[in-house]
Amino acid sequence: MYVGNRHVAVATTTEELVFDCPKCNYYAHVTVVGMGEGVGVSPYMMREQAAATEAVDAAESAAFADTMVVIGITPCPKCAHRSRGAVARSMLKQSMPVWGFVIGLALVMAMFGKTLLLPLAIAIAFFILLGVFLAARQVSLATRRIRFHEKTNPAAADG
Ligand SMILES: [Zn+2]
Repeated sequence: MYVGNRHVAVATTTEELVFDCPKCNYYAHVTVVGMGEGVGVSPYMMREQAAATEAVDAAESAAFADTMVVIGITPCPKCAHRSRGAVARSMLKQSMPVWGFVIGLALVMAMFGKTLLLPLAIAIAFFILLGVFLAARQVSLATRRIRFHEKTNPAAADG
């Protein structure tokens, strides 16, 4: 059994960044909101303050990294290009807890043999669908956290 405290922090950051489309060279200044979560652990309750600080630091850097993810998965407003790799990575990450559960179920299935095969297979299929759904929802929500400053964009005038 684990003895200690687990500190969890959440952070939100608003960053002024640049959106640069690799396909059509569309360029714009953007405001992106990033959200992150961080964890700090204090084994045997011996370092509460450090663990709390660690959680906040981790949350802040996760929030900043999140702004990069948002830019990566946002389709270009001009040519609709969007990085498939970034979308796939983001979907995989968002659905990670579900994949863990699916693997757990698969292990249980292996242990109990064929008697539970069908119900467990149905459960696994359900959770895979749930994972894909949650991930897709996260990706579509992420694109709402970016705001383009069209007026500051010189490329917008030539269209
Ligand atoms: Zn583009």
